[in-house]
Amino acid sequence: TTQVETLEFQSEARQLLQLMIHSIYSNKDTFLRELVSNASDALDKVRLEAFRDKDLAADTSDLHVEIEIDAEHRTLTVRDNGIGMTRDDVVQLIGTIAKSGTAEFLRKLRETQDAAASQDLIGQFGVGFYSSFMVADRVELLTRHAGSAHGVRWESSGEGTYTIEPVEDAPQGTSVTLHLKPEDAEDHLSDYTSQWKVREIVKRYSDFITWPIRLAVEKTAEDGEMTRELETVNSMKALWARARDEVTDEEYTEFYKHVSHDWNDPLEVIRMQAEGTFEYQALMFIPAQAPLDLFMRERKRGVQLYVKRVFIMDNCEALMPEYLRFVKGVVDAADLSLNVSREILQQDRHIQLIRKRLIRKVLSTVKSMMTEHPDRYTTFWKEFGSAVKEGLLEDADNRDTILDISSFPSTHDEDAPTTLRQYVERMKDGQQHIYYMTGETRSIIENSPHMEALRAKGFEVLVLTDPIDEMWVGSVPQFDGKEFRSIAKGQVDLDTDEEKETAEAEREQRQKDFAGLLSWMTTTLQENVKEVRLSSRLTTSPACIVGDAYDVTPTLEKMYRASGQ
Ligand code: ADP
Ligand code: MG
Repeated sequence: TTQVETLEFQSEARQLLQLMIHSIYSNKDTFLRELVSNASDALDKVRLEAFRDKDLAADTSDLHVEIEIDAEHRTLTVRDNGIGMTRDDVVQLIGTIAKSGTAEFLRKLRETQDAAASQDLIGQFGVGFYSSFMVADRVELLTRHAGSAHGVRWESSGEGTYTIEPVEDAPQGTSVTLHLKPEDAEDHLSDYTSQWKVREIVKRYSDFITWPIRLAVEKTAEDGEMTRELETVNSMKALWARARDEVTDEEYTEFYKHVSHDWNDPLEVIRMQAEGTFEYQALMFIPAQAPLDLFMRERKRGVQLYVKRVFIMDNCEALMPEYLRFVKGVVDAADLSLNVSREILQQDRHIQLIRKRLIRKVLSTVKSMMTEHPDRYTTFWKEFGSAVKEGLLEDADNRDTILDISSFPSTHDEDAPTTLRQYVERMKDGQQHIYYMTGETRSIIENSPHMEALRAKGFEVLVLTDPIDEMWVGSVPQFDGKEFRSIAKGQVDLDTDEEKETAEAEREQRQKDFAGLLSWMTTTLQENVKEVRLSSRLTTSPACIVGDAYDVTPTLEKMYRASGQ
């Protein structure tokens, strides 16, 4: 009896596969990088599993990746003897896309008519295993989870369904066989049955993979016999352990793509090497684009932890604070046990110290970007500014540096945000504070009656429309000795002493003149307002509503209400 089952891809997966089949992504070579990257991850996992679970029936004696080409049948196979997958894994991992932000990604893609923009989106999303369907019209996968007795065979042409069946004897790990699409007569450059081509792709994209990648090549001996030889194609050197001048920019870029699963180039590479009592190396990257799941809680990858070249974990929270969660890369620490758990890491003194240094290094990198590569900084801030500002609340130790690298929209220039340093340099004589107003949109803020007095004085106001601004601005007291003052709260004191004396006299006079009106209004409106007072800040509007200095702002009030508090 055959036990072949036909199952349907989840609908998001189906849509993504359609994109791959009709390959709107121009660099098809990347499929091999993805398969090798998955194989390498699977080898990392089996080594770690076998180390942690001595009873696991896994063979870790010769962990490697093998690539085999069959030019006659036009197939290309990528094989690993790594962790493998169970039947449930295959259905879950290959049949569905669990990545958060998928729906959002597909929606954006549908709305985009422009080919370049779609490329960008796919690059940002990263398609992984499915990229096989750019070059293959049928894909077979044979896998056995390390420790399981039986294996699984999976097959699909990417058109809506796949088949899955148990197999008795499968080797440990996974092999993926691509039945390559008919050769494109025009396009000799993408002949993936060419040894030369495959070797070149592996060298270019996967040289730093720390496992041997062996290419099975056919050789014709002198007597005409065909022999098969395995040739290791990659140099296997951990990039983070190599001297800087030994590594090219391209190598860093490809390594970034491997660790981040991003298809785009990074914005910035950050390297650190420390020797001495506790030795560590870090190779970190700032992406050029925020991932779709930057503000979702379940996102996965951040900084990976290695111990002496051995992979320990993805997304090591102990090394990077939440507000720098977009930083990708590898930290290799020498003096840790391979058995280390997330809980232990949080307590570990060395890890805490490394974390401190990593944070400072990332922040100082951004700071030097501001002067050395202003365009890069602009991109950085547009993509990650909202996350970084969370640090103003989370990380009191680095608050001043974070303020230093922050930018905010302001009334000075509608098109370019300002740093606080620039704001302070432009402050008018007699201006003592940094003025801001929070609100939903720029136009609401600019048209607010609260603006009038400041505009009259020529004082610049920060236009804070990002919801996160509401959170920090009330609790960060000052920048460079200047207090942050909301123009919508309490009594805004804009004047110098001299101005104040004249104003005070005038105010007293007016207070007398309007006493009757004010007390009548206070009584009439007592259900709705605490107090009615004369204002010195309005120039054209007759009245405005202000909050007390310690009240929540209207926007924050809305946010609380929306979240049910
Ligand atoms: P990603 O690698 O970004 O998670 P992929 O589409 O490349 O996405 O792969 C999906 C999942 O399938 C992987 O996370 C992994 O769990 C599993 N997988 C893919 N290839 C292999 C493999 N060779 N061995 C074991 N698991 C694999
Ligand atoms: Mg992958």
